[in-house]
Amino acid sequence: MSISQIARTIGESVTLKLNETAAILAAKGDPVIHLGGGEPKSKAPMDALVAAAAHLNSGEIRYTPADGIPALKQAIIRYTDEFYNRVVAPENVMASGGAKQAIMVALQAIVNQQEEVVFPCPYWVSYPEMVKLCGGVPVPVKSEDGTFYPRLKDIERVVTSYTKAVIINSPNNPSGAMYPESFISEIVEFCEKRDLYLIMDDIYHRLIFDGRRPINCWDYVKDKSENSKLIIINGVSKQYAMTGFRIGWSVANKKLTKVMTNIQGHQTSGPSGLLQRAAVAAINGVQSSVDSLRATLENNRNVLVDRLKSFKGVHVTKPDGTFYLFADFSNYDKNSTRLAKFLLDKVLVVTVPGVEFGMDGYLRISYCGTIKDVTQGIERMKWALDPDSPNELYIGERKLIRDWT
Ligand code: PMP
Repeated sequence: MSISQIARTIGESVTLKLNETAAILAAKGDPVIHLGGGEPKSKAPMDALVAAAAHLNSGEIRYTPADGIPALKQAIIRYTDEFYNRVVAPENVMASGGAKQAIMVALQAIVNQQEEVVFPCPYWVSYPEMVKLCGGVPVPVKSEDGTFYPRLKDIERVVTSYTKAVIINSPNNPSGAMYPESFISEIVEFCEKRDLYLIMDDIYHRLIFDGRRPINCWDYVKDKSENSKLIIINGVSKQYAMTGFRIGWSVANKKLTKVMTNIQGHQTSGPSGLLQRAAVAAINGVQSSVDSLRATLENNRNVLVDRLKSFKGVHVTKPDGTFYLFADFSNYDKNSTRLAKFLLDKVLVVTVPGVEFGMDGYLRISYCGTIKDVTQGIERMKWALDPDSPNELYIGERKLIRDWT
């Protein structure tokens, strides 16, 4: 088969594939526990559902402007004012088919062949593939001190004349690490000085724990004019549990937003008008669902961290936010793909191999499911991995026998 050079370099989305595997197993009646997912299990806010239903009932579901309906742009402008203390114009805003498309289109708008895009390790699985889709070169960078918290000198080390952009995702998928304010201020200043685009992927910025407050990158921008190369990415998927609605956005300078809108216009003509209306209602509506989601996730995190402490040899860094924990299981198996497959085969627990996020030996464990999923999933993992476990484990009626050491 003849396919393009670029297509040849693109792998499948491992996280989406795992969702599929878990769904197939569950449909067969297997008692699978999905600790690999990337979406909250709560319902979308009622405001969003009512707005979408009303629009659907109108029977007039049409094309919208490629950069989003005015009402959504207004909602994003208000959101940007509230969380970034920044007053932007509609021409600074582009709504997209999820934050994913907003990042992809931003990269297409700025990256030339062979130009490099730098991002810290561990990173969201899609960044390298997105950069490659643009003909660019992904440059993941591990922190010198081995933690999930990069320092400016880590980034400085890999920035060259080929570097076009830096992507920062904090709180971070998969580690749950929320980078300190000092780092955010330094990276903003550094990118400004070096004339680099800075893509701030803030998709989890409200899902943070222990009384933390979202960090506003815009606070640290010195040149607040239309020359700023800061691109803020956000969306409704995670904070409002609206992953399937596929609405995200970018806030950037007007020139870049125009170019991005041209690209998006030819790609998809913009996101679905029906779902944009739902997003408007979520952003402008009652915000209590965000607080209760955050509280549930924080509780799940606490339970998960507590349970993982009983694993011998697993190194855990307590997540500051998101709904992921990235634990070092290399004492059990340095090959995370093999370990994740082992856990799925033996005890029907889905986790995501760390190698997909740039760090082998780790597993990403999601705690966006029920507390029962978290506790039972960890219990099964412990049984499978701990050599001192009893020989048998019951999953419902099913008896599992340990035939490995
Ligand atoms: N950025 C990060 C870090 C993510 O984890 C995700 C979703 N997994 C996205 C962006 C994309 O979100 P959306 O569903 O809005 O496309």
